[in-house]
Amino acid sequence: MHTPHGKVLAFDFGGTKLAAAIIDKASGEVLHYAKRQTPKNLGSQGSLDIICALGDEFLQKNGAEEIQAIGISFGGPISRDGQWIITSQHVKGWDYFPLPQVLSEHFGLPVFMENDANAAALGEWFYGAGEKCENLFYFQVSTGIGAGIILNGKLYRGMGMAGEFGHLTVEEDGMQCACGKLGCLESYSAGWSIASHAKALYNQLPSGSALRQLTQNQAEMVTTELVFEAYRQGDAQMQTLVRSAMHSLARALADVVCILDPDRVVIGGGISKSKDIMQAEMMPGLEKLIPGFLRGHFDLRFSVLDGKETLYGAALLSEGGFR
Ligand SMILES: [Zn+2]
Repeated sequence: MHTPHGKVLAFDFGGTKLAAAIIDKASGEVLHYAKRQTPKNLGSQGSLDIICALGDEFLQKNGAEEIQAIGISFGGPISRDGQWIITSQHVKGWDYFPLPQVLSEHFGLPVFMENDANAAALGEWFYGAGEKCENLFYFQVSTGIGAGIILNGKLYRGMGMAGEFGHLTVEEDGMQCACGKLGCLESYSAGWSIASHAKALYNQLPSGSALRQLTQNQAEMVTTELVFEAYRQGDAQMQTLVRSAMHSLARALADVVCILDPDRVVIGGGISKSKDIMQAEMMPGLEKLIPGFLRGHFDLRFSVLDGKETLYGAALLSEGGFR
């Protein structure tokens, strides 16, 4: 495996946050870093203005001549050739937008783009918990559920949309997903769905329940973090809800393990910070649902890059050997 070299300006266009960094690819050192809220009501132009200002500032601080390329992680589907955004479910104005071309004209550098789950998989594989293993399945559970696959040391893209883990069916004829299909994993186990299931149950919760106390009897205060906290405090209804969400995740992951037989599985995203809950409620289900001959085949780890995995992956996109 070759060693990447040079410095890259990396950008992360997310639905809730924007981030920029200069990363030294050889050492994995983050030389400059900033994160901002995505200005949702200003459409794609609002995000572009913030990213261009951060990029200009970093190039001035670092010296533009040392920067080799730009890498973009985008939170939404992109075209197979990496030149176009298809859409964003969070911010208006991105449909069929040639983001790499626009940034290349602004900064005068070559630009490479990948969707956020693929970028995160690449970053985590090379610089984080993946430890450059041969075959990796990376999945992230945050507001949505996404995944990226590394096969034989390269990002596997399929026809451009491989790794749509959140849309595996876990409940036939189940809930309607934003994708239009019924019973997707994302409708049961993603951050927003755990919180929305808890809100739907709220009126039936006993007055002394932990969730009611943590949210001061106001259903609109429910967040996934508070549902998890109620689980930890022994709230019986929230334990049932969380157990069911984690079981759906285990069921989908078991299917992936049967197909890929990866040497490592890495879990990232906001929900992976609640390791205690994932270990207690997802692992037993997973053990039960994979065939005996696959048990113990793979290592399961949690992301170690603390939300910067997309930027690390974006930085690696300019290295032709990994994609
Ligand atoms: Zn779906």
